[in-house]
Amino acid sequence: MLNLVIFGAPGSGKGTQSERLISEYGLLHISTGDVLRDHIKRGTELGVTARQYIDKGQLVPDGLIIDILAQVLDDNKERACEGVIFDGFPRTIPQAQALERLLGERGTKVHAVVGLEVDEQELIDRLVKRGKESGRSDDNEATIRKRLEVYHNQTSPLREFYQERGLYKAIHGVGTIDDIFADIKRALAAIEA
Ligand code: ADP
Repeated sequence: MLNLVIFGAPGSGKGTQSERLISEYGLLHISTGDVLRDHIKRGTELGVTARQYIDKGQLVPDGLIIDILAQVLDDNKERACEGVIFDGFPRTIPQAQALERLLGERGTKVHAVVGLEVDEQELIDRLVKRGKESGRSDDNEATIRKRLEVYHNQTSPLREFYQERGLYKAIHGVGTIDDIFADIKRALAAIEA
């Protein structure tokens, strides 16, 4: 069983590499961004609340997203036992502490954190391009800049958090999808056994 966190700035390629990892290792994909967008689409109360943050490029409050994550884990108990890839979570230190606790309570843990490292200008170029294609309400230039700022202030400290635990695998996130994936597999080979 393998529990992975895919980590990186918005536009670093987390979603793309998650897809490859899911088919390679048969993992359950938990993307908090997808879960929130699904709530927005269905017009739930949670979706209405979340949208106010997402459209401003801010993070949804920790308490809310942690409850959502716990619920998703419970709703997918059997599949989660086979291994999970967490995409877009954790994004703050309290979320990372909550993830340790939630997995600990379920008798498991994070085995590795795959950190996709991409320079700032490349991130902006990718996100602006994606915004033209995706129609995502938060892929416009002002919100993109805000999301990158939030990433630097609130999320990037997690790199050190996971480095201290010996879990962080730095991956250069520029190049072909195949080459980046090959690097990830190499980094994970040691812990697969
Ligand atoms: P990206 O990685 O491109 O920013 P996501 O789909 O992961 O996209 O997230 C989109 C938005 O959803 C974030 O900007 C944030 O507002 C909200 N969100 C997603 N995951 C979390 C989280 N773990 N904590 C707080 N907010 C989140």
